[in-house]
Amino acid sequence: MMPWKGLINHYREYLPVSDKTPVVTLYEGHTPLVPAEPLNKITGLQVFLKYEGLNPTGSFKDRGMTVAISRAKEKGARVVMCASTGNTAASAAAYAACGGLKCVVLIPNGNIALGKLAQAMIHKAQVIAIDGNFDDALNVAKDITANYPVELVNSLNPFRIEGQKTAAFEICDFLGDAPQFHAIPVGNAGNITAYWKGYKEYKEAGRSQTLPKMLGFQAAGAAPIVHKRVIAKPETIATAIRIGNPASWKTAEQARDESQGLIDLVTDEEILQAYHLLAEESGVFVEPASAASVAGIIKLAKAGYFKGHAEGRLVCTLTGHGLKDPQTAMKDLPKPVVVKADRQAILKLIGI
Ligand SMILES: *Cc1c(COP(=O)(O)O)cnc(C)c1O
Repeated sequence: MMPWKGLINHYREYLPVSDKTPVVTLYEGHTPLVPAEPLNKITGLQVFLKYEGLNPTGSFKDRGMTVAISRAKEKGARVVMCASTGNTAASAAAYAACGGLKCVVLIPNGNIALGKLAQAMIHKAQVIAIDGNFDDALNVAKDITANYPVELVNSLNPFRIEGQKTAAFEICDFLGDAPQFHAIPVGNAGNITAYWKGYKEYKEAGRSQTLPKMLGFQAAGAAPIVHKRVIAKPETIATAIRIGNPASWKTAEQARDESQGLIDLVTDEEILQAYHLLAEESGVFVEPASAASVAGIIKLAKAGYFKGHAEGRLVCTLTGHGLKDPQTAMKDLPKPVVVKADRQAILKLIGI
């Protein structure tokens, strides 16, 4: 097998790049599809976790960023900009550093996970906190990049979606075909759009035979697509999907309708339960937003949605790594007990 050299090199024929494109890559992609026995029991399906937290900066954002930054560089751009709940900023900052570009990120003040902020800063992006939420930050980023020589690298940038669709290719390559169901968190809705595009293109190219039903999940306090209206003040513990007016709203609805899937909501409580279940029973540590997809399939299983599909395959995208947000992880956990380096004391504690 050829050594992995990043998704542009691997899926070049499906991507908007040419021999002239300078490939800016951190060898992203090629993430594992981990079987999830505890979720098989709950759903009656064969469940796989697409562990996107194992990308270079710890989220799926790297898939789109390698294409967006490579194309920005090809065009001669010097500066890239994004609005971000954190992971886009972390990814843009790393790829801009790798490609020798300046990066400016606009974040909602006070609502960004610690690890993500650390990433943007260590890569020397210029981080500007906006007195407002993500949607406000995106509006001003759109305004600036439309009028000045600065490239927007949010998922409104079509190259982002192109790169992100390769996750669907990898799933088909791994399973030999598309799964029956694909579950995914929905924030700005670029990723559900990208997966659906990827599944359709792969089938068109004869690389897969079927298409999955797309199952998207928003957080209850940030569920504009479910409620069919903009949410002015979105609230959820899952900050990566704390978005009230998704940029890819229409294409997310298309993915839902064309695939005969659904977009539903899950509460913060359900998200946290799934978050702990993944960590405790599957050994997989994700950030809270990622657990929305798992919370969603548990909810659907309880409602009988998967009846009649026994043993069918379902892939759950786990969008980002748990280390991004250590504060949420530690919040309700007890501090380690302190004892002397004494055998008896330790044996007593562990009950031996
Ligand atoms: C960006 C992100 C999402 C949301 O993806 P969209 O494409 O905006 O719907 C979900 N989870 C994590 C960890 C993210 O970084």
